[in-house]
Amino acid sequence: MHTVLRDKFGFTSFQGRQEEAIGAALAGRDTFVLMPTGGGKSLCYCLPALVKKGVVVVISPLIALMENQVENLRKKDICCDFLSSTRSAEDRRAILDNIQSQSPQMRLLYATPELLTTDGFMLVLKNMYKRGNLTLFAVDESHCISSWGHDFRPAYRKLSVVRRELPQVPIMALTATAAEKVQDDIVKQLRLRNPALLVSSFNRPNIHYCVHYLFEAGALDPLPHVVALLKEGRSQDAASRWPCAVIYTLKRETAGEVAFSLSAKGIPAAAYHAGLKTAERTCVLSDWASGKTPVVAATVAFGMGIDKADVRLVVHYNLPKTIEGFYQESGRAGRDGRPAKSVLFYSRDDRDRMDFILGKPKKGKRKRKQPKSQQGNGELQAFGQLVGYCTARCCRRAILLRHFGEVLPAGTCTGCDYCEDPHGVAEQLERLESEVVIGAARRGGRRRSFGKADLPAYAGGADLASSAEDGKDSSDAASGEDEDDSEEAQAAKQALKRARTGDASDEAVLSVMAAAERRYANTSQQTGCTSNSLLNKLRLPNTK
Ligand code: ADP
Ligand code: ZN
Repeated sequence: MHTVLRDKFGFTSFQGRQEEAIGAALAGRDTFVLMPTGGGKSLCYCLPALVKKGVVVVISPLIALMENQVENLRKKDICCDFLSSTRSAEDRRAILDNIQSQSPQMRLLYATPELLTTDGFMLVLKNMYKRGNLTLFAVDESHCISSWGHDFRPAYRKLSVVRRELPQVPIMALTATAAEKVQDDIVKQLRLRNPALLVSSFNRPNIHYCVHYLFEAGALDPLPHVVALLKEGRSQDAASRWPCAVIYTLKRETAGEVAFSLSAKGIPAAAYHAGLKTAERTCVLSDWASGKTPVVAATVAFGMGIDKADVRLVVHYNLPKTIEGFYQESGRAGRDGRPAKSVLFYSRDDRDRMDFILGKPKKGKRKRKQPKSQQGNGELQAFGQLVGYCTARCCRRAILLRHFGEVLPAGTCTGCDYCEDPHGVAEQLERLESEVVIGAARRGGRRRSFGKADLPAYAGGADLASSAEDGKDSSDAASGEDEDDSEEAQAAKQALKRARTGDASDEAVLSVMAAAERRYANTSQQTGCTSNSLLNKLRLPNTK
């Protein structure tokens, strides 16, 4: 293993828990690899391919991702390829012939989940299996299997076929997603048998975390602040270059507007979202990768497979939907290990809109649609946690890590706005709370309500809203279809839980977060109702 690591990959030592993951896979054991983005997950399945005879099959959700990996491995003279609907029939045939032969030259084969479930491919895999030529089955970005996750792909659901059809091939599930439900789902859906759990720390010490509060009294527009951040980045660069930055927005239009406004100010910026033509997207990506356009304003479409080491700044222009998503996106900063920044803009307005989109049930006579589905509730809960990140009076890093089941020892934060100025943050939060109440009073005690007319404006959220509305719920249906509560599955779940909880001594963080979430629930309700008592208490005129 060490020889291959050094000679083929050029690394002197294993990182995190790579060595154990590889060891377990080579011993034929199922593995669950939970490492942050940039933690070196791919080595965990690439190295076994070079140590053992046979082929490692890797399921990957994106063609671009597969192409990129294949290209990198080929530079190291590793024989590998990928199968997808984009390949010609001829190419496919050649690939399948190669892996089916008595002693295949191919070391790794990447494939989309859709392809896996086609009869032809399964037959080929079975042939390889019979010959003992299937070393390992790796499922990259395995959280795509769960509808609780932020990247659900229905086709991933069908991967349970692997265990059924190829029962003795070890499976390696890899993800950077920490949500317990998602992890449980992965173990269950892939039918992992007592998997070795390999969890690396999620701490990203070189990222500085900051929540920037926007007040109604001030300007609610984050743009001037973003410009200031970019200018600051430039002033810190020896060659006076603009910093490489990603600005995440909720809507496609906002991404476009931000890119336009920045360009107008002489900052080289482009927009990236799913509404662009493929060619345009490719162009934006390559200009960004080359440093020609260092700033990209993007929706979450700018995600998986983005691997640029020198991102200095990740901005969340609007509130993300989950801590998971936020962690993934902010985690694109500073992969080179040098100082980087995550700045999240928090305005009440944004949060209220998000609540609406997610179909938060409200008290009162105006019967709001309720999230009928589990998924709707899950989304709301996840969003509550994100709000907790923004409003808890404690270290941001501790909150993030707590979410991943890790404890950050007190006093060891390597940079966040709260640790630098706890009183300042607390003061701002109080100001924010009072603005909400005063605002509610001015509006006659009623929270500004959002109508359906507001919805199209939130392109990204519209789907969510409609799925919450009609109770369309893939998770319910799927769990009914694939219920596997065998002892094995239960034991795996239990083991996973133990590995995750580790130490519960960070009660302080927990209670602060719980309080923040409670406060969040309370103020939402207070401002949502026409509570005269609240107004009386504040001695503000009811203008209604
Ligand atoms: P992930 O898939 O977890 O996001 P990657 O597999 O893409 O991470 O690896 C991230 C980076 O870390 C890559 O540039 C890779 O070359 C590097 N890397 C992986 N393993 C090691 C190691 N043992 N030593 C040094 N660098 C490593
Ligand atoms: Zn901190």
